[in-house]
Amino acid sequence: MAKKLNGTVIVTYRCNARCNMCSRYKAPSLPEEEISLETIKKLPAMYFTNITGGEPFIRSDLQDIVRELNKKSDRIVISTNGFFTDRIVELCKNFPNIGIRISIEGMRETNDEIRGLPDGFNRGYETLKKLKEMGVKDIGFGMTVQDMNAKDLMSLYDISDKLGMEFATASLHNSFYFVENKNIISDRQMVAENFEKLINALLNSRSPKKWFRAYFNHGLINYIYGQDRLLPCDMSFDTFFIDPYGDVMPCNGTKEKEVMGNLNVQTWEELWNSPAADEVRKKVRCCDRQCWMIGSVSPAMHKYIWVPAIWVVRHKLRFWTKKKYSIYEIPVVREYRDGRITKAELDRLSTCDLCGVASDGLSEMSRKKLSADPEEKRKDDHII
Ligand code: SF4
Ligand code: SF4
Repeated sequence: MAKKLNGTVIVTYRCNARCNMCSRYKAPSLPEEEISLETIKKLPAMYFTNITGGEPFIRSDLQDIVRELNKKSDRIVISTNGFFTDRIVELCKNFPNIGIRISIEGMRETNDEIRGLPDGFNRGYETLKKLKEMGVKDIGFGMTVQDMNAKDLMSLYDISDKLGMEFATASLHNSFYFVENKNIISDRQMVAENFEKLINALLNSRSPKKWFRAYFNHGLINYIYGQDRLLPCDMSFDTFFIDPYGDVMPCNGTKEKEVMGNLNVQTWEELWNSPAADEVRKKVRCCDRQCWMIGSVSPAMHKYIWVPAIWVVRHKLRFWTKKKYSIYEIPVVREYRDGRITKAELDRLSTCDLCGVASDGLSEMSRKKLSADPEEKRKDDHII
């Protein structure tokens, strides 16, 4: 029997939010081009599926998509900005085992400023509370940490902890998927210090899952200082992303879209075993982008489990001797503190490219429509 894979299905590039770290809303897909049920039926067996966008709940047929994916995936988690409460609640009534991660970018004011969604915090928070009342078990917050919201990291963690919910973190990345190439953390020290508080709270908990999350957050500090990933990246080997056009890709972190094949016109076996897929795998082997996003790190943490496990044991032992985790365990953080490396040098280690143009991974048709009538096109993101 073929090995089950880890897949991410990007069901749409349309989005109703206006986030400051993601320009996807400026480059939406056309509804008529978005991945069909016929294509979804061709996906392989998966042990985990993430459904994402854009904003996935913009699609009126999301329930049908989930029904199909449910047949082939052991676990499904949907990433959403939480705005469409009624649709999320409705879906969870029909699929109570589904996981929901709502991105909340800080406390009320900060979140609404970053997201550009009127009343976004209240809507997201109310959605989470409703799901909790309904008894949905697999729910949580997602937060992309940047200069503007790092100070809210612990407050959000405390809320999630009180509500007994998962708390997933990320930091700024640049890629075709986010249609961004200018994202960068400016005050690394301040952001890292907030992560340090979170790591210590996670290590101090009784939950082994949280201890491993502490390791993930340690990796985020390492990433924002431009260092090599703590674990190898094996995207495209047993993990894939599929975009709204049916293009199968290794991940969402590359500068330009990398295509292994197209599932609208190929079978899964043809695509996965094709020379194009092997070419992409060769590129992954020498990729230097050093992303640290849960989509590529979670499979690596499972595959190379002894690396985070040793880290966790070492830090739990130190914790019992009252020695807390410190950001200065990471050599580059010490070097920056001691003036042996400058901010400009650290900036150069990031993927931020102030002179380049961000790629968008759109189809010809979507791009033509967008350049013909950009404002009209963006109104489509409210189509239901
Ligand atoms: S981060 Fe998500 S919610 Fe925000 S604009 Fe991008 S796709 Fe939309
Ligand atoms: S490091 Fe991995 S996840 Fe990031 S762009 Fe390269 S292959 Fe993709």
